[in-house]
Amino acid sequence: MTTDPAGASLDASALRRRVADFVAEHDPATTDQHTFLAARFDAGLAWVHFPEGEGGLGAPRALQPVVDEEFERLGFTPVGREGLVIGLGMAAPTILAFGTPEQRARYLKPLYTGEEIWCQLFSEPGAGSDLAALGTRAVREGDVWTVSGQKVWTSLAHRAQFAILVARTDPDVPKHKGITYFICDMNAEGVDVRALRQITGEAEFNEVYLDDVAIPDSQRVGGEGEGWRVAQTTLMNERVSIGGHPEPREGGLISVAAHLWRERPDVRTPGLHDQLMRLWVAAEAARLTKERLRQQLAIGQPGPEGSAAKYSFSRLNQEISGLELEMLGGEGLTYDDWTFRRPEGVEFSKRAPGFHYLRSKGNSIEGGTTEILRNIIAERVLGLPPEPRTDKDVAFKDLPK
Ligand SMILES: Cc1cc2nc3c(=O)[nH]c(=O)nc-3n(C[C@H](O)[C@H](O)[C@H](O)COP(=O)(O)OP(=O)(O)OC[C@H]3O[C@@H](n4cnc5c(N)ncnc54)[C@H](O)[C@@H]3O)c2cc1C
Repeated sequence: MTTDPAGASLDASALRRRVADFVAEHDPATTDQHTFLAARFDAGLAWVHFPEGEGGLGAPRALQPVVDEEFERLGFTPVGREGLVIGLGMAAPTILAFGTPEQRARYLKPLYTGEEIWCQLFSEPGAGSDLAALGTRAVREGDVWTVSGQKVWTSLAHRAQFAILVARTDPDVPKHKGITYFICDMNAEGVDVRALRQITGEAEFNEVYLDDVAIPDSQRVGGEGEGWRVAQTTLMNERVSIGGHPEPREGGLISVAAHLWRERPDVRTPGLHDQLMRLWVAAEAARLTKERLRQQLAIGQPGPEGSAAKYSFSRLNQEISGLELEMLGGEGLTYDDWTFRRPEGVEFSKRAPGFHYLRSKGNSIEGGTTEILRNIIAERVLGLPPEPRTDKDVAFKDLPK
């Protein structure tokens, strides 16, 4: 990434002025959201730390929250962007860090405006937590790779135009070394997406079969065999984007439980009061920790601390949704809608307690399981001895399958 020397000298007040000028020219009340976002990208006010022409101004990364807050204050908060979580949260930072100039020019803008939805083809039936054990093969002939294999639990694959994909390109070296990272066109011949219905009744995710899918080498992100390193950037950003959203005090599921307590005297008992207080305090501590993490992130790369934020988010969601059921007794077991739907995102706030309880079970699995996050915190944050690994120096093809 190049840094524009002019951008590097921008400060918060200069950026606030730029946002004000921009909003004066593109009135959020009368400009449709897509046009507004496209113009915002062109003005370098999408991600200010990205280079000019790629949605940014080459300004210091720490100034992005200033721009977001100023847009919000002046009346513009984008809506209906749940389906963009993988594109914005994971694909964009990875393409920015490792993509070619052509890839950045092609993908970043439609990803930002929401014209193109992305999904993540990482997990496989035999390689979830142990992602480096993935078996999907990519074989190169000239400038084209042929990809075959199966991915699973792929959120949004039914809506996505593009996917970030990891595949094995060299089985003769140890498992972390023979992986390459690609951008896969989800409309390419040989990509077959099949819905998987979840415990909630909905199908947010899918199985994806890849049968001799041709991917041009120009769609490779990073070097051949460098996919593990590229994927680490995606995964660290994923944990932050799942666990690190800014939230108001008493935001998220704790607000549902607290409202219930205030509005329904019939559900109150001293025991439940103690539980609610304990969870309210834990939610507030987690919120403040996330806020500190968000500010640290604004000035650099996400680190393993994002795993702690994702871990506490999922633990709290499960405990709070359990408390909600306890408060409501039999009434809490009601479920609003069991229709087989294929939503774009997860909407907790408008759903019934039964949905909260069931959907939060997935929180401790998606984006890295709780056990794996504990391993990361133990090894990379606390510096505890690593788990014994016997497969580190063995060629992938020689590992027992
Ligand atoms: C709602 C939802 C959405 C998802 N969306 C996507 C998506 O869009 N794209 C995508 O690629 N994937 C997606 N996933 C998949 C998710 O990332 C994987 O399910 C997850 O990484 C776990 O892999 P696994 O299911 O194969 O479980 P396994 O890896 O088989 O793990 C089973 C259990 O063993 C534990 N375990 C495994 N290894 C260790 C270890 N070394 N130490 C301690 N415990 C261990 C795990 O923590 C877990 O409890 C999604 C999952 C869910 C639930």
